[in-house]
Amino acid sequence: MPDDDLPPAPGPLRLLMLGPPGVGKGTQGERLAQRYRARHVSTGDLLRAQVAGGTELGAQAQPFMDRGDLVPDELILGMVLEDVLGPTSPESYVLDGFPRTVAQAKAAYEQAVASDRVLDAVVSLELDHDDLVRRLELRGQDSGRADDDDEQTVRHRIEEYEQKTKPLLGYYEDRDILVHVDAKGSPDEVFDRICRAVEDHVRR
Ligand code: AMP
Repeated sequence: MPDDDLPPAPGPLRLLMLGPPGVGKGTQGERLAQRYRARHVSTGDLLRAQVAGGTELGAQAQPFMDRGDLVPDELILGMVLEDVLGPTSPESYVLDGFPRTVAQAKAAYEQAVASDRVLDAVVSLELDHDDLVRRLELRGQDSGRADDDDEQTVRHRIEEYEQKTKPLLGYYEDRDILVHVDAKGSPDEVFDRICRAVEDHVRR
């Protein structure tokens, strides 16, 4: 086990993975969810399941996803607010890919306060531009995701991140729950770094 040399995991924990496309949010999010016995919530995965299932929501979201645009806030909030952050949702969760706009973050916060499920920490995964593009190109070769294939779509997803999602860093910094983590290195190294940073933060 890669987390053999980590201390025992703390109790209920609620995390958000933040960072540009390709930085490793999904990979790390799944592993963190295992360590903290938390529900892993990837809105990208949920949306792809809606598309594959041929639902109304899938049909509405697909054109945005294909272009690399963010899906409109109302569609995303309708899909996750009650289910993921409602009073009967699991106490521990790892959010991956949601919220992605300040409007989503504010709506999520209101729901989380009402349900007593506010975030403990936001992990900002940080990697320089060249390493990021390299990771995205590698993923494009083997993920089977349509939006990873096309260079222009990938570039547009990075622009969407820069314009609409990056402002969340300031939003969470102001709430004093932002934890910066260097995403360079192997998945094991990054996982270890995230766990230590998060656990230091929640024990403060
Ligand atoms: P991901 O797998 O997280 O990279 O998401 C794939 C695509 O789904 C994104 O490029 C967006 O089109 C859409 N998407 C996922 N999560 C969100 C969100 N929280 N807000 C808006 N669009 C989203």
